[in-house]
Amino acid sequence: MTCDEARERIPFYAARALPEPEGVALLEHVVGCEPCQGELVEAMRLGHELRAAFARLPGPPAGTWLSVAARTVGASLLAVGVGAEIAGLTLAVEATKSGFSVTGSLSLLGREVPVLRI
Ligand SMILES: [Zn+2]
Repeated sequence: MTCDEARERIPFYAARALPEPEGVALLEHVVGCEPCQGELVEAMRLGHELRAAFARLPGPPAGTWLSVAARTVGASLLAVGVGAEIAGLTLAVEATKSGFSVTGSLSLLGREVPVLRI
């Protein structure tokens, strides 16, 4: 695997979205490539910080989700996208039977990379 191929896969690996054979091949490269090690560490750190930031967000008052969910199950409540053609970030909130799901994804060169699912 070349460094370019590794760099393309690192965001997917950090988001736990890379199939295992590709993950193994990536790690085999990264073990012997210091610059790619730095990229991987940075991608993992960014993903961790993003998940931690969302975990710290305060929730609504008790009962709010229930009353909203009763009227909106299956509906997409919010979708926010920022960025450009090369890279972007999308956050979406959707009502489900058990509450709400929040998903976030990075868009890198036209490929979607899931980075968050709460
Ligand atoms: Zn490399």
